[in-house]
Amino acid sequence: MARPWNFSAGPSALPEVVLQQAAAEMLDWHGSGMSVMEMSHRGKHFVQICDEAESDLRDLLGLPADYAIMFMQGGGSGENAIVPMNLMGRRGTPAADFVVTGHWSKRSYKEAGRYGSTHVAASSDQAIQLDGREQAPLTWVPPVDSWQVRPESAYLHLCSNETIGGVEFMDWPDTAALGAPDVPLVVDASSHFLSRPMDVTRCGMLYAGAQKNAGPAGVTMVIARRDLIGHALPICPSAFDYANVAAEHSRYNTPPTFAIYVAGLVFKWVKANGGVAGMEAANKAKADLLYGYLDSTSFYRNPIHAPVRSRMNVPFVLHDESLNDAFLQGADAAGLTQLKGHKSVGGMRASIYNAVPLAGVAALVEYLKEFERRYG
Ligand SMILES: *Cc1c(COP(=O)(O)O)cnc(C)c1O
Repeated sequence: MARPWNFSAGPSALPEVVLQQAAAEMLDWHGSGMSVMEMSHRGKHFVQICDEAESDLRDLLGLPADYAIMFMQGGGSGENAIVPMNLMGRRGTPAADFVVTGHWSKRSYKEAGRYGSTHVAASSDQAIQLDGREQAPLTWVPPVDSWQVRPESAYLHLCSNETIGGVEFMDWPDTAALGAPDVPLVVDASSHFLSRPMDVTRCGMLYAGAQKNAGPAGVTMVIARRDLIGHALPICPSAFDYANVAAEHSRYNTPPTFAIYVAGLVFKWVKANGGVAGMEAANKAKADLLYGYLDSTSFYRNPIHAPVRSRMNVPFVLHDESLNDAFLQGADAAGLTQLKGHKSVGGMRASIYNAVPLAGVAALVEYLKEFERRYG
């Protein structure tokens, strides 16, 4: 069986050894005589799987004990509602601020408006001149000293890697320096979680759907500083109240057991491959190879402001868009799959998550060159 190089934005490639291990354990997990799918979520086997996943993730992130790790359902879109329901009212009148840099942060901003007062602290949704070049809307990050955060807000939300646009925050600001020391950061890190070291203690909360870079669809990793937990609005469903989920170690109700198990295997794979620092070194080499080639030719173009180009999601356009179909057909024939860009931006997108090795990116660059030779 030939598996193509998979550049899907999500659900996306998983490490092959993780898939092999899940297959080998499918009918009988560690002599239990059961598949993980058939176990009680309160039985000793699954409790061990879940607690180990939590402690491996804590190790990987170097996360201190005053932060809770929760495995939840609902995805990033679910958290766009679950976060406001839990946090927005913690300082009285529900209020939150947002940095808008693309599709996903805009979605978070819009959803939170159903639960309280929202305010755009900064936005890149307009064209701008930067470094002598015109940047299109949502292809850049507003400089931190221009952010206007309401000091009475319950939190400041940003999406640290815009999966569709391809814009990545390489660092997170200190809200104290923005004149809002009591406003914690809430970060949607779905599409670059575990791709590099991240100091989660610089934010109050972070969440990530597993299906981009950390496991299968169905589980969302939610990390919250414990003092932010326990302020849910009365309308918050009990099963989504962080106080309940954290107190019960993600087993307040039935969690997505199989997805947690596979995510746990991915955490062990990351640990065995140099941890998040090892992932970063590999991801940097992959991104340098791909951007290096895109920048060397006018046949292709990546539209993102260079300092904030995502290492995970690389959108690019062909100089002649009438070649798009031929490009995608040729790519599939060459064993390179799911390169079509999101419908909202068009063009192409290569998602080069942790599980896509350097050899996959090298194969993509070879194909880019060959296609250019034929049609350039
Ligand atoms: C994919 C994605 C989401 C949405 O995830 P769902 O699981 O489909 O709800 C939210 N934020 C980011 C950054 C994403 O990449």
